[in-house]
Amino acid sequence: MSDLERVEGWGLSTASLCHVERPTDAEGVRKAFSLAAERGWTVGLRGAGRSYGDASQNDGGLLLDLQEWNRVQGWDPETGIARVDPGVTVEQLWERVVQDGWWPKVVSGTMTPTIGGAAAMNIHGKNAYKVGTIGDWIQGFDLISPSGDLHCSRDENADVFHAAIGGFGELGVMHNISLKNHFVDSGRLMEYPFVEPNLDAMFDHFEELRQDADYCVGWIDAFAGGSSLGRGQIHTANYLSADEDPRGLALRPPDKQRLPDRLFGVIPKSIMWRFVRPFAHPLGMRMINLAKVIAGEYAPGSKSPYHQTHAGFHFLLDFIPDWKLMHGRRGLIQFQPFVPADAARAVFGRLLRMQQERGLVNWLTVMKRHKPDPFLMTHGLDGWSLAQDFNVTDKNRAALWALCRDMTEVVLDAGGRFYPAKDATLTAAQFQRSLGQATISEFRALKKRLDPDTRIQTNLWRRLMA
Ligand SMILES: Cc1cc2nc3c(=O)[nH]c(=O)nc-3n(C[C@H](O)[C@H](O)[C@H](O)COP(=O)(O)OP(=O)(O)OC[C@H]3O[C@@H](n4cnc5c(N)ncnc54)[C@H](O)[C@@H]3O)c2cc1C
Repeated sequence: MSDLERVEGWGLSTASLCHVERPTDAEGVRKAFSLAAERGWTVGLRGAGRSYGDASQNDGGLLLDLQEWNRVQGWDPETGIARVDPGVTVEQLWERVVQDGWWPKVVSGTMTPTIGGAAAMNIHGKNAYKVGTIGDWIQGFDLISPSGDLHCSRDENADVFHAAIGGFGELGVMHNISLKNHFVDSGRLMEYPFVEPNLDAMFDHFEELRQDADYCVGWIDAFAGGSSLGRGQIHTANYLSADEDPRGLALRPPDKQRLPDRLFGVIPKSIMWRFVRPFAHPLGMRMINLAKVIAGEYAPGSKSPYHQTHAGFHFLLDFIPDWKLMHGRRGLIQFQPFVPADAARAVFGRLLRMQQERGLVNWLTVMKRHKPDPFLMTHGLDGWSLAQDFNVTDKNRAALWALCRDMTEVVLDAGGRFYPAKDATLTAAQFQRSLGQATISEFRALKKRLDPDTRIQTNLWRRLMA
């Protein structure tokens, strides 16, 4: 058992002191729950700590870091089903399955999260509108809760299955997670870039493109105003059959997928964020966003389709490890509202204008399309999300939190939702309003059954559900 350790959220804007324990199996978790009960400590769970805010911190209590419990327990290339320990990462999973011609159905924009953490947050990818969330592809898992062990699937303890996925780790430790992967013939995709002059064009073209695309994602220059408000780019990608891409078969081994260690063959990726650091202020970011717009419009070949490996397409953000450090000492928060389809266009326009009016424009804006899923605490809905990275400084912190509070109200009025993995600013009242009291009560009843003493708690739980 460690002395108190400093543990940060990925965005660096929140930190806590916790006793950290690193179990490597189910017995280790059970022992930790008993020890915490003896000492009267609460227990928080942590995967790779890639949630932006306070989801995997437990100030003053015990924190179970599950990263070292990390073996792929089973893999069947006939059915595409993998069975993994909670600490197996998205990277470990794709490395294991890709050589047999499979790829995870749902991956995040970084390959570093654990499957336990991904399941607990019910992550989505750039194909959310088509395949839903990771939970849609999980077949079952075992759950260790303070009141005992359960197996959960759609047929067994289905209520817990649907609440633990997306239940941000509050019902117990998920392990022995089996999930279905997607068969791919080729080790690469065909990617298509598009330039869009404003928000209307972003929405209209995205809606049209996604009908035939396996993946579709938008990027917006949040600094552009007036008639260019919401201008940006859309990238789609499609799987390729063996006939379409016979050479793609040779790209299935993991070493052909791995991202390069050096950019342009020269600069070690690990120091790349330092090159962006001089631009890490509102003017610099306005220039970088503009440069991306200009490059998308005028750079040679910028509008032509091209082949891209699966890893290269999905994990763009991993090309610059630790890029968050460019945000400086106070880091960043992400604000990612999910808004029903009929309201999203007006709401996103309003959010972009609000941040421009207050001089607090976010630096990186990503737009995705989603569909509903059957999980109790889900952020998934028939609509759109807009992920926005806001730089945090001592000086802007109060104003930024006030902006997020006000933007949240706009989203709530439109029937929108939020994603605990990306949140740092919601209040309990706002979060509970987004899901509705019936859902919150149902979740609380399950929590009471599985964790009668509310032993499992994180900072996020205390902020949103206390
Ligand atoms: C650069 C970047 C890009 C991202 N892109 C996306 C994206 O495209 N789509 C998306 O959906 N998300 C995205 N995310 C968010 C990320 O996928 C989620 O925050 C994910 O939950 C992180 O997994 P983790 O292993 O780091 O878990 P942590 O952040 O450590 O924990 C997340 C939650 O899971 C709980 N938990 C952890 N392990 C278990 C377990 N075994 N059983 C039960 N509960 C557990 C924790 O208590 C916590 O509440 C991104 C994050 C980053 C940093």
